[in-house]
Amino acid sequence: MTFHQAEHPLLVIPGSIEVSDDVLLANATPSQSHMSKSFVQTFGETIKMFRQVLVTERGQPFIVAGSGTLGWDMVASNLTEPGDEALVLHSGYFGQSFADCLETYGAKVTQLKASVGQCPSREELIQALKAKKYKIVTVTHVDTSTGVLSNPKMISEVVHEISPDTLIVLDGVCSVGSEVIRMDEWSLDVVMCASQKGLGVPPGLSLVCASERAIRIVETRKTKINSYFASWLNWLPVMRGYEQGKPVYFATPPIQIICALHTSLKEITSRPIEERWARHKQASIDFKQFVTDELGLKQVPSDPSIAANGMTAIYFPDGLSASDIIPRLLERGIVVAGGLHKEIKDKYFRIGHMGITVMDTKTRNDLEKVKDALRNVFKEAGYVQYFLARYFVKSISLKHMENENNTSASESSLPPLDEANRRKLHAFYSSMALPGSSPDDGLQSIDSDNVNCDVR
Ligand SMILES: *Cc1c(COP(=O)(O)O)cnc(C)c1O
Repeated sequence: MTFHQAEHPLLVIPGSIEVSDDVLLANATPSQSHMSKSFVQTFGETIKMFRQVLVTERGQPFIVAGSGTLGWDMVASNLTEPGDEALVLHSGYFGQSFADCLETYGAKVTQLKASVGQCPSREELIQALKAKKYKIVTVTHVDTSTGVLSNPKMISEVVHEISPDTLIVLDGVCSVGSEVIRMDEWSLDVVMCASQKGLGVPPGLSLVCASERAIRIVETRKTKINSYFASWLNWLPVMRGYEQGKPVYFATPPIQIICALHTSLKEITSRPIEERWARHKQASIDFKQFVTDELGLKQVPSDPSIAANGMTAIYFPDGLSASDIIPRLLERGIVVAGGLHKEIKDKYFRIGHMGITVMDTKTRNDLEKVKDALRNVFKEAGYVQYFLARYFVKSISLKHMENENNTSASESSLPPLDEANRRKLHAFYSSMALPGSSPDDGLQSIDSDNVNCDVR
């Protein structure tokens, strides 16, 4: 059966993401019993493929109706007992929410908070671990509110060295499928995610994977698990049963969405996962280069080394805000996300580039469409001044070089960089109020080969 989904605005928020026709069709699987042979096989294979995506052989998956948030409840209710100490590494909005969830179940939470656009440093982590003994440490791999990428491998090494009994939990809701994760090699105790982000499936599933050590902790805890639906002890027989080809009932699984996940995971695991990571990385480099070099915009992550590969968080230039850009993109059929981090909420927007938007370049052209729309929308919103200013600066610097070196510049009738023109340039810049720019910055950073003076 050939199925094509309806025309719709391109969804490039950092989750939910675009879903392939095959996955969407699988989500329309006719009714079948959750105890049927065919569903048992589908679910069993799905559990195994999820392990492959996390590069784990020993992890125990839990695939349960819910969303990413249910993963926090699972971690908090199963792995902490009231009064246990938890350390939350905070790189944005989602660290705060994880902390709130842990407290709901009685954990005592310490947050190691980084300023906006950063994540806690190795040194801060070492200090925190030396100051107190923690039952668990949680890390947001990609904080979707800032696009900041943490380094779980480094964090795990530090925790294992200083506090080997501490469990390490990775919130991978916005990273599984788009960022490198090696659950076994990095000795992570829990990796949690959701169907609708990097895995490219409609929302509806919480996917969690627990290490053998984490399962032992649950099985030997002193107090009763403070949740019924989230209790791993209730789900363990179900997951083990389906994987061994025997249906076990605790609560009805969402059959269709699991069929959709099965289809997506089959596609994902049909090629080496490293290739998928590399494709996301390259697409991200290209897109970020467009944002900084061509549009001249600043990203929220303070350094490229801590910028996510599955999304980009971008500051508006001074003078422009969400209402100048987001509705205009929508008119062009592109859906992006506004700000989420409360300290900078109105100052930036977010674009997701995960799943088929990155992987399917044969039948789709998503990121080129997004770039085109951004060029036009920024121009329409009055940002064309920026391009003009760059042209102006380039002209002046060429002339400047010509005067200094007595070499001939390619543009002949350019204004000299004299006092009068400096003043004009100053006025021009001030009128645009470009962030952090003065004519002198402009001239210092000028590299005539790299200046794109196309006025589009
Ligand atoms: C989206 C997200 C969540 C919450 O997931 P829901 O599916 O919305 O419940 C948690 N953590 C991170 C990092 C996220 O991006």
